[in-house]
Amino acid sequence: MIKTIFINPPSEKGRKLIRNFDCATESKGDYLYQPYDFLLLSSHFEDEEFELIDAIAENLNFQQTMSFIDQRQANYFIVAMADTNWSEDFNFLRHLRERYPQKAIFVFGDAFIDKNTIELIKKYANGVFSNPLEISVETLDSARFDDWISEAGFVSENTYSRSDLKKPKQVSINYPKHHRFLLKNYKWPFSRHFKYTTVFTAWGCPYSCSYCVVAKFPNIYRPYEEILSELDNIKSSGLKEIYMGDRSFGLPRSNTIELLKGMISRKYNFSWSTYFHPNQYDPELLELMRQSGCHTLIIGIESHNFKSLKKYGRHMKEDRFYALLKHAKKIGIDICGDFIIGLPNETREDIHKTIKLSKELNIDYASFNIAAPLAGSSLREEAKKDGRIAPGEENHFDSFGYHKVLSNGVLTGEEILNLRNQAVKDFYFNPRYLFKSLFRIHSLEHLTIQIQEMLQILLKTK
Ligand code: SF4
Repeated sequence: MIKTIFINPPSEKGRKLIRNFDCATESKGDYLYQPYDFLLLSSHFEDEEFELIDAIAENLNFQQTMSFIDQRQANYFIVAMADTNWSEDFNFLRHLRERYPQKAIFVFGDAFIDKNTIELIKKYANGVFSNPLEISVETLDSARFDDWISEAGFVSENTYSRSDLKKPKQVSINYPKHHRFLLKNYKWPFSRHFKYTTVFTAWGCPYSCSYCVVAKFPNIYRPYEEILSELDNIKSSGLKEIYMGDRSFGLPRSNTIELLKGMISRKYNFSWSTYFHPNQYDPELLELMRQSGCHTLIIGIESHNFKSLKKYGRHMKEDRFYALLKHAKKIGIDICGDFIIGLPNETREDIHKTIKLSKELNIDYASFNIAAPLAGSSLREEAKKDGRIAPGEENHFDSFGYHKVLSNGVLTGEEILNLRNQAVKDFYFNPRYLFKSLFRIHSLEHLTIQIQEMLQILLKTK
């Protein structure tokens, strides 16, 4: 019997939205991530108890999505929502409530870090999930259409301001239903195989960079034995490619070391990639990551001026950063650097220096993100205080600049968007980079993925 439908709502404008608990964005290339928070939620249900309707991946419109929902007769719904697409997502929720006034509806998304948004949806939903790991299905099963739930696993008064938010917490879950999340439209840009799945060794983030929404989320990790048994199942299903979905892979260190040793001794031979904070680097850890199949790391470099990031609570150890780059190059791990364009008071010259650094570091990929005042970030608070964001104008920002880009006090939004696009072109579309890229290709499958991504980056960068 179907208990619930996981709903990733449609975008009538065809936006390739990625809606998660802790962030939401627009695909900057051809990729579209597997909806990995729904994947984690699936661990709480039996196979026959849930259905997924991913209107973004399947390119469905409002009517088609509703008709899918109508045919299923589920007891309650779980809906992903995004701050960057707030008007449309909120409308979808209101329609769903009108159509199903007697059923419980649960939601999640980055917009709910803002308390005002929670107040706004109370009339239409029955609770906001705070993380996908600590949900009790009994609570969901027994929720009435007029309840408001704020117990463990749901957002309550102090969810994002608890003093112990970053204290490591071990949480166990059942097996996420990977085989139900393998649509061919799910693409991870760093994959070496078309088909991939996502595994979390930890969820949330131990760090607190104030410009980042994820900083507001807890620091949860899973025991390595449980992850190994999940990997056993993935291996037997024939999947070869994994995105380790951690925001900062490697913590707690002892748990990670045991996991990596297990992956090596069980001879999985997975090909995998992950986000990694340079401060986590040590030679033993990186060697084990490589031996267990890690081929790409995405690291936040952010700016040419590391010291300027301290005011946002980001303390990057420069010596470790450079040692990591050197070691990764030596053992054949590719690096994607994440950069932020347009932090408050950055000048045109600052941004040019960041672009220059991105090219000088000899990294393999770069992602240039506009400094966006997202819900829960210090950038939003700052902009509201100094009047760059008027009341009621908070939503619809993202790191891609789809709807609008905020001035940083020195440059206009349009100038920042142009500089971001310039950065993409300077990094990717030069003969040196393209020539170097040829030597990174591992197979025809890998080449196809890379060409598809490059073409989309080109098309999306004006
Ligand atoms: S380490 Fe990365 S994910 Fe974590 S808070 Fe900082 S920028 Fe965000």
